[in-house]
Amino acid sequence: MTADPTHILKTVYGYESFRGRQAEIVDHVIAGHNAFVLMPTGGGKSLCYQIPALCRPGLGLIVSPLIALMADQVAALKQAGIRAAALNSNLPPEARQAIWRAMGNGSLDILYVSPETLLRPTVLDRLKQVPLSLVAIDEAHCLSQWGHDFRPHYRQLDALVTEFPDTPRMALTATADAPTRAEIIAHLDISEGDSFIAGFDRPNIHYAIEEKDNPRRQLQRFLEKHKDESGIVYCLSKRKTDETAAWLQSQGYNALAYHAGMDREAREANQTRFQREEAVIMVATIAFGMGIDKPDVRFVAHLDLPGSIEAYYQETGRAGRDGLPSEAMMLYGFDDIALRRRFIDESDASDQRKRMEMQKLDTLLGLAETAQCRRQVLLNYFGDHCEPCGNCDTCANPPERFDGSIAVQKALSCIYRTGERFGQAYIVSVLLGADDERIARFGHDQISTYGIGKEHDQRTWRSILRQMVAHGFVDVDFSGHGGLSISERGAQFLREKPTLMLRVPRPAAKGKNRRSSG
Ligand code: ADP
Ligand code: ZN
Repeated sequence: MTADPTHILKTVYGYESFRGRQAEIVDHVIAGHNAFVLMPTGGGKSLCYQIPALCRPGLGLIVSPLIALMADQVAALKQAGIRAAALNSNLPPEARQAIWRAMGNGSLDILYVSPETLLRPTVLDRLKQVPLSLVAIDEAHCLSQWGHDFRPHYRQLDALVTEFPDTPRMALTATADAPTRAEIIAHLDISEGDSFIAGFDRPNIHYAIEEKDNPRRQLQRFLEKHKDESGIVYCLSKRKTDETAAWLQSQGYNALAYHAGMDREAREANQTRFQREEAVIMVATIAFGMGIDKPDVRFVAHLDLPGSIEAYYQETGRAGRDGLPSEAMMLYGFDDIALRRRFIDESDASDQRKRMEMQKLDTLLGLAETAQCRRQVLLNYFGDHCEPCGNCDTCANPPERFDGSIAVQKALSCIYRTGERFGQAYIVSVLLGADDERIARFGHDQISTYGIGKEHDQRTWRSILRQMVAHGFVDVDFSGHGGLSISERGAQFLREKPTLMLRVPRPAAKGKNRRSSG
């Protein structure tokens, strides 16, 4: 029973053609390979496992966390004429028997199963007696201990590697930053080369990131381009949210506030108005986000640094769902950065967690400081790629740059010579030839890269290293000590030594107290 995937797509699902990388993924799995699939919500992940499950002989096993979700999927599949069922702990014994029978005589195509049910020895034994076409793990980020959605049973799914060594494994998710991604594929023993990442580009969104100078004036200038349009202005604190909304109202804008400090009715009333009315500006903390379903949000402005690149991507992603041109603008200042670092430092998180948060902050700063196309940096973070987009501020107005080729070579070589396990602060100290007890203890004051970076100061080196992360030349060990190692691309850079322009870091802010507030 080898069926043609395109034929199934048309006859069973009624779709004309595959979308994005679906066809590639389907072929890859039909050929018997593992796959890690990262696509945004709505990207079309289900077909990526359902069609190979139908094309390959045997039963397709789909691990899914939510019983309600399984029931929906099974109902939809049955409607399309596919023989599907769901196995979970709520099932009465007769229904369970019926599933075993169908499995035994080969009249079941797809079986959804919860991880806790799947991992029962009796269930595993049953499954070992039938041929399996594939095992797909949906919402695979649930196995990540760092994620917001950790489920201990998901963690144990690595048992599938040993229980069904010859069955292709798929892991699918919509939310996976670099560390989570690495954790998933390592845990399920899927190789890097079997990763499919796609669909993150939002080509209709224009990205711009500016340093704070006079934030209110900068916001006003931005809003002038969006008269009579709806958008979101994100602030870090509740107080600033209220103040900014009041100020915008005083300037004649139809602005509303939304934050967790407001009572529920007021908050919901504002959300409803935003949803229904035209030309409304919602000034909000990140509490505003869930359940926004407004296709014509034309702009998203961040008056403070967002929490991370993922947060930035999610929050800006609320603009332009209708596909029409939209704009994202972010302001950031040195004070924000210092404040963020203090937040992390003073939180009660574990040291490891704190280090990871610091690295994520640095990655975000890499995006802010880059001389490269913003979209390239953003997509690179998710493991996706694009050409310079022509639809961001750095593409339109290349920032002041300097030839950073030699500096990057020096930094890469320093990372290499110190064993690819130290964090950026250490690498910078070695490059500057710092008189440091740790450096002496490791003998790194004896290596050739000790003190070879004196032409730049510490601030510049830190910026160079962040830009190297943004370029994807170094990988950051987020879940360990933030150690830097040389990526495939970094190794290629060292081999080919191309010219590389980097953004000139701004001098440290002196003489504050500009006439600005907010
Ligand atoms: P995800 O699981 O990635 O969030 P789904 O698999 O639920 O996304 O797909 C989202 C929607 O897109 C569904 O309505 C699905 O039927 C539709 N869809 C997926 N692939 C295609 C395609 N190739 N052509 C048309 N519609 C598709
Ligand atoms: Zn660009």
